[in-house]
Amino acid sequence: MPSAPLPVVPSDCLLCGTCCFSDLPEYIRVFGVDHDRMDDDARALTEFIGNRCYMRIEDGHCAALVPDPETRRFVCSIYPMRPDACRSLDRGTSACLGELTLKQDRPPLALEALVRKNRSG
Ligand code: SF4
Ligand code: SF4
Repeated sequence: MPSAPLPVVPSDCLLCGTCCFSDLPEYIRVFGVDHDRMDDDARALTEFIGNRCYMRIEDGHCAALVPDPETRRFVCSIYPMRPDACRSLDRGTSACLGELTLKQDRPPLALEALVRKNRSG
């Protein structure tokens, strides 16, 4: 059976944001070394579940992600302080391709939802 074609890797992560999307509250683990790197604003975007810390999930993506419907860019608001889990996911790697295969439809849907919300608000 032929395998499904691999997804096209975007030229820039700012135009993608796919790997920052999840509905799982335990998606991005924040270890002690990550927490220590963060300032108070960044720590405010984390939460403890039991005795483990994670990036908070809001609207189907990491709370630090800022989708901009005008520029269609997805900016990490804590980029210099982002957790190691995010640093280890490089564009074009098999992990990136896996994320794109599973979730590539979510960022454009999030932008559309924001456009609708802005129009109605
Ligand atoms: S690493 Fe891959 S999935 Fe993540 S934002 Fe960049 S291109 Fe998208
Ligand atoms: S911390 Fe930044 S890079 Fe990591 S998942 Fe959140 S928005 Fe994406």
